[in-house]
Amino acid sequence: MLLNKNDKITQNYDVIIVGGGLGGMTAANKLAKNGRKVLLLEAHDKLGGFATWFHRKGKHIFDVSLHGFPVGMVKTCRKYWSKKIADKIIQLKRVRFINPLYQLETDFTVDDFTGKLIHDFKVSKEQVDNFFNLIMNMNYYDNKAMTNGELLESFFPGRKDIHRFLIEPIVYANGSTLEDPAITYGIVFSNFMSKGVYTFQGGTDLVVEMMQEELLNNHVDICLKSKVEKIVVDHNVCQGVSVGGNFIASRAVLSNGNLISTIFNLVGEDKFKPEFIDKVKKVRLNTSSCQVYMGIKQGETIDDIGDLIFFSEAKEFATEELLSMNTSSRTFSLYYPRLRPQLADAGYSIVSSTNARYEDWVNLSKEEYKLKKEELIKATLISLEKVIPGISKKIDYIEAATPLTIKRYTHHEKGSSFGTKHEGLEVSMGLDKEIKGLFHTGSVGIIMSGWLGAANYGVIQSYEVESYLDK
Ligand SMILES: Cc1cc2nc3c(=O)[nH]c(=O)nc-3n(C[C@H](O)[C@H](O)[C@H](O)COP(=O)(O)OP(=O)(O)OC[C@H]3O[C@@H](n4cnc5c(N)ncnc54)[C@H](O)[C@@H]3O)c2cc1C
Repeated sequence: MLLNKNDKITQNYDVIIVGGGLGGMTAANKLAKNGRKVLLLEAHDKLGGFATWFHRKGKHIFDVSLHGFPVGMVKTCRKYWSKKIADKIIQLKRVRFINPLYQLETDFTVDDFTGKLIHDFKVSKEQVDNFFNLIMNMNYYDNKAMTNGELLESFFPGRKDIHRFLIEPIVYANGSTLEDPAITYGIVFSNFMSKGVYTFQGGTDLVVEMMQEELLNNHVDICLKSKVEKIVVDHNVCQGVSVGGNFIASRAVLSNGNLISTIFNLVGEDKFKPEFIDKVKKVRLNTSSCQVYMGIKQGETIDDIGDLIFFSEAKEFATEELLSMNTSSRTFSLYYPRLRPQLADAGYSIVSSTNARYEDWVNLSKEEYKLKKEELIKATLISLEKVIPGISKKIDYIEAATPLTIKRYTHHEKGSSFGTKHEGLEVSMGLDKEIKGLFHTGSVGIIMSGWLGAANYGVIQSYEVESYLDK
């Protein structure tokens, strides 16, 4: 049932889920399908979390995080959501790279990458096969000492062009850098490589609408505009949550909020053992990002120039350059009217993303912040003109989002786009060993982020919740 935020909830639940991102929603659906009584509380006025969209000027719809996900999402949706949702997932066939080292187009499959590495980058087939064999068989429990930089150097020594080709897309996909453990790269890269990059036909608004319908059909109680203030714990056992000053009881709580704020703000440091808190304090948040949303005038068209473009003017790929406020490296996602065939007047939009640091934005004065946003828009248009000459004249709406925007809307500490670095996963999975009935799901550990990672982690944690409830 869709509850009103002012409804007084007096019944008890098996599980309360704090946050309706992809992790929280998928866990809620799976638990409810298994007959558990579930309450899903979401702070925002709609479900989806980062999987979100917004309207501007009545005619532009912008998708925030629908740039592409791996094919695994089809299976996840079919198994844990519905065939109807899974059937709407389609491939993005044209992924392009434009930078001073190379310009090429790929469908982002292992076959195509292998061909490009052999013919364009002139490496031996054996070298390429060995590389793919290793990364395709990586799993989370492998050696975490080797970094992405070391992995690439060991297979393709001194080949900065190849390093860039192999890592650049993943840096945007999950915030992992040359310095992160190679497994976080290998797992995500091989997920994408298995069959390319996919999107949801109909847009984020449609997928979230379909998911909400499915949750309600499976008898999940959903309450929007309900920001949980506290997860209530007594004698190391989770009792429920407090929202709008009211207590709601449940046997378990699964938080889909940011891992660090779940521990420090929702539960409270004093409820955990000091050794655990020491571990939590060492968890690094992932970096954040900036976006520029551009709407094309109604009636204007743009040629199909590809779905996803990795553009950069930097001579070399470097983490510092990518995170800098003055970076020349950005992605362009192009949304053609075909993305929303259900709309008669669907238009074109373009979303540009750059990686960014929260610290660079949070310390600016109001005026500096405004100015920096304007500079970001200007730099984005200059780059985009190089890809689609004359595009500026076709744009009638433009706006920029920063790490502060991300923090404001999703309550993620430091506007982190992809949760935490790899060490966050162990902490997330260890919450119930500290407090009985307390669980976490959502972007952590790099590998459990993105649409697929978050949804799959929701499934994994729903098993943990069920096994607790059955005890
Ligand atoms: C700009 C951007 C682009 C991206 N692009 C892609 C992409 O192309 N492909 C891809 O696969 N991934 C992409 N991602 C990442 C992907 O969107 C996320 O990893 C994924 O959606 C996160 O899901 P989650 O389960 O962690 O929940 P989140 O999306 O983090 O949602 C958590 C929810 O919890 C709610 N919440 C938090 N605290 C409370 C509280 N106290 N009470 C109630 N509710 C609360 C929040 O409001 C939010 O709705 C992108 C992310 C960003 C920021």
